[in-house]
Parts: sequence; structure tokens; C-alpha cells
Amino acid sequence: MKHARSENGVAKTHTRCRVCGSSGLVRYLDMGVTPLANSYLNAEQVGVPERVAELALQICGGCGLSQLTRVVDRDLMFRNYLYVSSTTQTLRDHLAGLAATASRVAGAAPGEWALDIASNDGLLLSCFRSLGMRVFGVDPARNLAAEATARGLPTIPDYWSPAVARRAVAQYGQPRTITATNVLGHVDDVHDFVMSVELALAPHGIFVLEVPYVIDFIEQNEFDTAYHEHLSYFGLQPLSELMTMHGLVIFEVEHFPDIHGGTIRVFVCRAGERTPSDQTVAMLEREREFGIRDIDVYVAFGERVRANMLDLTDLLERFRSEGRRIWAYGASAKGNTLMNFTGTTADAVPVVVDDNPKKWGLFTPGAHMQIVGPSELAAAEVDHLLLLAWNFEREIVRRSRAAGYRGSYIRPVPAVAVFG
Ligand SMILES: [Zn+2]
Repeated sequence: MKHARSENGVAKTHTRCRVCGSSGLVRYLDMGVTPLANSYLNAEQVGVPERVAELALQICGGCGLSQLTRVVDRDLMFRNYLYVSSTTQTLRDHLAGLAATASRVAGAAPGEWALDIASNDGLLLSCFRSLGMRVFGVDPARNLAAEATARGLPTIPDYWSPAVARRAVAQYGQPRTITATNVLGHVDDVHDFVMSVELALAPHGIFVLEVPYVIDFIEQNEFDTAYHEHLSYFGLQPLSELMTMHGLVIFEVEHFPDIHGGTIRVFVCRAGERTPSDQTVAMLEREREFGIRDIDVYVAFGERVRANMLDLTDLLERFRSEGRRIWAYGASAKGNTLMNFTGTTADAVPVVVDDNPKKWGLFTPGAHMQIVGPSELAAAEVDHLLLLAWNFEREIVRRSRAAGYRGSYIRPVPAVAVFG
């Protein structure tokens, strides 16, 4: 079946704030009509019109939540998912730390239940299991849920919802810890999601969630972490308002500047059980000083991003005119956003290297770069590697050097730089 180039049937317009319900949403960054970022293509699909939707950001002046202007049908994005969190050592270490901290803060005893929502291939669940917890997961990607279950990490292949929460609690028990990393930003109905957490959580249990931090997003020009899956861009302020609406309260927060370009880990309990830490209060105050609800802050960001991407296209054009060979590294969603926003195609950057073997042989949406493994680098005589997964820069430099790459690197964000 061929898909039309229009958005019809793929996305709906989003006009009311998903947290506070305000209709006062103001658009501040328009990245055009682009293909869905994780829809990789096989050789036969290249040349067939792709599913596309507008990719643009708007800010709610009421609660300070940044959110996309369109909501793409979630089954098109999440039912067969290629992003596997076990791929990188950085994330493996980070999630092991999360399991240890969450268990300690919850006072969880071995044998109690830990639930991970959007558990992907079960990496975080395996960390809880090695601490002696009993575990189960929920994830709509049927391919990943089946793989995790086969490895002894039972995973319900569905979206998190009140019905799934009730079924899970009946089958397994009430979890002492519930975790949700990198998923709340992908959820359209966040009230349904948080209500389901409150429903499942054991008495005195804790909910720990991680989201990319909107203040880093704005300050570091991380526009390329915007893609159709990533519906909301959270700060602590809108998160706090959301939790309050469901009888929950944020009592602790940690900031990890190097995870996904800046991530906050937020600890939540039922209201009245714990008191918000000084750190939590201070972060809310810093967000007020930053202007998390101030439209001018976001408009200035949009202008910086456009200037940043003009610098990048100028540089790529110059290298190309000098006959240099440019490949990219990191067939990531953010890479696809950047390539499509700048209009860069496989003519300029024909190949992208990626560490995930599931992607090898496929082509990126929109730009149609061919995806290969790092072992292809040695013989290819590449002059420049464009870092599309810049959040894993150190790891990519190490891996590409180990694979025999001798050229230089182009860092696109927050400002264009060539090094190595
Ligand atoms: Zn709002």
C-alpha cells in the first residue's frame, strides 16, 4: 500500500495543553513536514512516498509545557520498535544506578515487586532482578516484549493504562517501585498514565520517572531531540502540576547533564507521605528565574536553532565542493530530525554508521542514508563523520577509532565544530 505525502490519517492537531488544558499554546519552532523519525526503510521502500507529519513546537504559557503541534497515531510509532536501550554502555551503567537508588529510597526488600513501564528490552528490569526484586514490565513494542519475556523478564505487550494497571496488579501484585524512563514525553494522555501509576503503586511505594530536561533542551539548542514520538518537553514545573492533580507529589529530583543531552530523574510519592527536598524547591525556583513560561525565551531559542543549522549546511556544502567524503554516525531519531530539518540528503551524506545490528541494511527516513556497521569504516576512506548521536560522542569516537577510522568529526549541536 502506498502512503500519500499528506498527513491525512497519520496525525491529529494538538490545540490544548496536555497538562493544564489551556488553549493558549504559542508556536516557536517549525521544522517542516517530515517523515516519522523511527520509520526505517528497506531497499524496496526507498522511493515509495513515506508517512509524514508536521514537526513543530509550541509552549503553554499556563504551566510551561513545550509540546508538539501534531500527535501521530501511536501504533505507527511504537508497535515495532528498533531502539534497544541495551545497545550502549553509558545507558547500561545509568539504569543500574537507577535501580539501586530507587530500591534504596523506596526501602524495598528483596522479593517485593518492581514494575518498569515502557520496559523496552528489559534492561532496567534485569537490574532490579539482580538486586533481588521480583519484576515485570509493560511495553507496546510486541517484538521487544516477546524478547524480554523469553529472557525471564515478563512483559505485558501493551500501552500503560488503567485497564493494564488493574490486570498487572491482579496477576503480579502492587509494585513497591514503579519506574518510567523516557516514556512520559511520548504519551498523549498523560493524565491517564499518571492515574494508572497511582492505581497500581503499593502503599508507601515510589514512582521514579526520567525525562529529557526542557531547560537543557533550550540552553543547549537540542532541537534535534524533537521528533514525532516526543510529544512533550518537560520541566519540573509542569510535572509538578501534573502529579498534584493525581494526589501525588515530587519529593526529590536529580539532574544528569550527560544522559540524552540532559535528563531529570524525578521521585514521586503519594501526597503527605514525604516532604519535597531543598533540591526540589531550588530547581522549581531556578525554572521560574529561567522563564519556563516566558514565550520570549522560546522565540530566541528558535532563532538560535535556525542560525545553527545554516552554519551546518554551509560547512557540509563546502566540504562537498572540496571533494571530501562525509559519512554520519548514529542512525538515531535525532539524526533524522536534523537531516530532514536541514534538507540534507544521501547525496551529501550517503552512509550512516550505527552500532545496532537490527538497523544494518536499512535506510533512514527522508534522507535515505544507508545504515552500516562500524566495521565498514576502515576501508571506506571517509574524511568526516557527522555526529548525529552527539549525546554518545565519547563512545562513538572510541568505537570509530577502534574500527580504524582516521578522519575528523563534525559536532552539529549546540554550535557547529570540527575536531579530531
Ligand atoms: Zn499547560
